Amino acid sequence: MAAAKKARAKARPTNGARVAAGWDAAPTEVLRARDGFDLASLDRSSTPGFSGGKAAGRALVAQHADELSDLQERLFAEGRTGGSRSVLLVLQGMDTAGKGGIVRHVVGLVDPQGVAHRSFGVPTAQELRHHFLWRVRRELPRPGYIGVFDRSHYEDVLVARVRELVEPAVLDRRYDEINRFEAKAVASGTTVVKVALVVSYEEQRARLAERLERPDKHWKYDPSDVDSRALWPAYQDAYQVMLDRTSTDTAPWHVVPADRKWFARLAVSELLLDALRRLDLGWPAAGFDVEEEKRRLAAT
Ligand code: ATP
Repeated sequence: MAAAKKARAKARPTNGARVAAGWDAAPTEVLRARDGFDLASLDRSSTPGFSGGKAAGRALVAQHADELSDLQERLFAEGRTGGSRSVLLVLQGMDTAGKGGIVRHVVGLVDPQGVAHRSFGVPTAQELRHHFLWRVRRELPRPGYIGVFDRSHYEDVLVARVRELVEPAVLDRRYDEINRFEAKAVASGTTVVKVALVVSYEEQRARLAERLERPDKHWKYDPSDVDSRALWPAYQDAYQVMLDRTSTDTAPWHVVPADRKWFARLAVSELLLDALRRLDLGWPAAGFDVEEEKRRLAAT
């Protein structure tokens, strides 16, 4: 514990940009989808910016736990005392990309009371009667919370594009609508951290095969996942267009190669930590006279 504290103190930022131990470049920079990013050429088993290896990567995630937890509590305290800020982690990825593992192993490092986790599946009849952002807008995290979107409004430009669920003109409009929606959320105090977990075709097959091999994983297997594999190239194209059109300065995408689970978890823990650090969170001042309260308490 003392060693972890020391490492954390050493790693504390003096300014926004920093490179943590084990990283050759800041994960926010190296993973960011900028103009011209080419998804097809991404090696999904690579570990961009990190040369530390699996054991070091895992150790780093464990080291982050205290700081993540501390910053989340500060955010929560701020939200309880009139603050307006929150963080939203948007997780997108093909089936088996590891969204659930991120929620369990990274988001799980902080107090669940301060987390608002939402998954977005096939829209209900009621949801379909509304604009596609309707169900998403009402799930934006309240002040003080870390919201997690396990799938998100991006399904409305991914599965919707691949399966041609809407007219091309409607689909085309959605990218700009999403950008405006996110810009507004950011302006209202929500830091949006978008993560695309990118698994390879071969690794997805291996993960699905494992679900079939192991009775304790059968519940995770969905026969329709194999149907989606048939649409793999179309999904890759849809992800590319999504990255091209919605990786903005206010809400950039981070593309995380996900064939190595340990790396994906490390990368997302770094991105979340970075977002929280940038908020420069303090502790709210007491809304009462501390000395007076001490006196009153002592008198009881
Ligand atoms: P996951 O694979 O994320 O762990 P799951 O397989 O248990 O989830 P659900 O959470 O029930 O399944 O739903 C996910 C499915 O819902 C995905 O196939 C996804 O493409 C689909 N989906 C999500 N949003 C939409 C949308 N807006 N329109 C159509 N389909 C959607």
